Amino acid sequence: MDERKVRKIIMFPLPFPGHFNPMIQLARIFHHRGFPVTILHTSFNSPNPSHYPLFAFRTIPHNNEGGEDPLTQPEASSMDLVAFIRLLRQTYAETFRQSLAAEVGGGETMCCLVSDAVWARNTEVAAEKVGVRRVVLITSGVASFCAFAAFPLLRDKHYLPIQDSRLDELVTEFPPLKVKDLPVMETNEPEELYRVVNDMVKGAESSSGLIWNTFEDLERLSLMDFRSKFQVPIFPIGPFHKHSENLLPMIKNKEDHVTTDWLNKQDPKSVVYVSFGSLANIEEKEFLEIAWGLRNSERPFLWVVRPGLVRGTEWLEALPSGFVENIGQKGKFVKWVNQLEVLAHSAVGAFWTHCGWNSTLESICEGVPMICTPCFTDQFVNARYIVDVWRIGIELERTTMDRKEIEKVLRSVVIKEGDLIREMCLKLKERATVCLSIDGSSSIYLDTLVNHVLSFDPYDVAS
Ligand code: UDP
Repeated sequence: MDERKVRKIIMFPLPFPGHFNPMIQLARIFHHRGFPVTILHTSFNSPNPSHYPLFAFRTIPHNNEGGEDPLTQPEASSMDLVAFIRLLRQTYAETFRQSLAAEVGGGETMCCLVSDAVWARNTEVAAEKVGVRRVVLITSGVASFCAFAAFPLLRDKHYLPIQDSRLDELVTEFPPLKVKDLPVMETNEPEELYRVVNDMVKGAESSSGLIWNTFEDLERLSLMDFRSKFQVPIFPIGPFHKHSENLLPMIKNKEDHVTTDWLNKQDPKSVVYVSFGSLANIEEKEFLEIAWGLRNSERPFLWVVRPGLVRGTEWLEALPSGFVENIGQKGKFVKWVNQLEVLAHSAVGAFWTHCGWNSTLESICEGVPMICTPCFTDQFVNARYIVDVWRIGIELERTTMDRKEIEKVLRSVVIKEGDLIREMCLKLKERATVCLSIDGSSSIYLDTLVNHVLSFDPYDVAS
């Protein structure tokens, strides 16, 4: 019998799209290599298993047995992301351990846990107790992870907490990052942020390996930097969504068809696709500046206004009356799109993004130039690399942008500077394809990862 048939992969994603999507893509990669996959998922934001028939799903209950889910209480909805992650980790620490123990059973099936880096210590302790090897999926880039790992140093050197007077200063230990690019976020619990980051780094360091959704030609120097500081084996096998097993025909709903029909009617490379991901939110004032900037640029646009994106509003009601009607077919507002499909459409000429790591990779893979408006944590690092290192985008800083500047940037990226940037984008897209080819670095790392997992002795739990 093929040895890997009885080596089960147990995955534990963080329940947000930017973490769940790459975990599912990774699940397909493992499954394609012959591993059965079980996804342990929090009851909060639980996925629909019927969308993923290749895998077994188990729901981990919250810790308030018989009571209400602490994460859906009104107090939780008003928390900032750092406080929410604290609550998330507390809510599932013990129930995760129990679910993992039940899944591993009496040891008759050899298992390997693949957990999101943000669960960190939760999974470290549980995996040790249950006696299962743990590999960590990092859903951010290597450069930002190195910056996270340097938080103690950055605090010692007084780069952190960030002082307004030093925003444009170069962080000499981490060029090309400036102080304003350090991966922090506004929170009422700054010490908790440092704790989450520290746990993530320590949990990664003590694991049996790190899987990275990146590719060597993209982050060669950052990977070298990482290797010079850490001993843990690493597997940069990305971009996950471009592995052959992930190139499945997409399941489309009615809204996706409407969006595609609209894109089909636009000129090639004319549309500005706007999305700030699944978690960021903006003030009403910023929303209006963006709306007017888009309108005044006279570019066709497709804008994902997620319910919850604009603080204190349901959806588009902050727009002046008649605004949407005046735009007519020139612009389209949607609540969610199939982003992979949108970025691959020939009508899309630029992506105005918050620079989440998945969005960044997805844009690179389609050769689409980016307009960068990072909102928090690693998005600042990604934006700096997009603009100054890979030179595939333009910066549009959130703190200073108004409708005039937005109009100017949109015109320049689609018309003037667009060609230069697009050339760089196409080169990088080509590098991604090379890394994924049969002898490419991502394919070789994937083979190494498979052998690594197969080599685990079930009774020799990583210390
Ligand atoms: N996404 C999507 N449709 C949307 C907006 C986002 O499918 O309308 C997906 C996007 O393709 C990406 C993920 O959601 O895979 C967002 O992850 P990212 O790391 O870019 O940002 P986050 O949401 O974590 O801030």
